[in-house]
Amino acid sequence: MDKSQQIKGFKGILELIKYFDTEEKCAEYLAFQRWGDNPICPHCNHDKIYELKGKNKRFKCASCRKQLSVRVGTIFEDSKIKLQKWFTAIWLVTSHKRAYPRFNCTGI
Ligand SMILES: [Zn+2]
Repeated sequence: MDKSQQIKGFKGILELIKYFDTEEKCAEYLAFQRWGDNPICPHCNHDKIYELKGKNKRFKCASCRKQLSVRVGTIFEDSKIKLQKWFTAIWLVTSHKRAYPRFNCTGI
């Protein structure tokens, strides 16, 4: 699959789980979804970002020198839940909207 594809574009949950088989792949996907090929610092909007080595996709801003992870500034930021689980949950919600039309209204 192409990284520009949306999570809801997966045809089935097994396809999604198979694709996102590591946290690393999830982080890479999230980074691409947020920034494309050019990451931008969420603290100062500077576009010179260095990618740090490691599997968690951490970056360092050349301007404010803050370290950032791909989760900063997203709903995933303070979450200890793995991205793999998040993506699965997002898929379930986005691809079953029609099956559960009241999902959004009830706030569940
Ligand atoms: Zn910065």
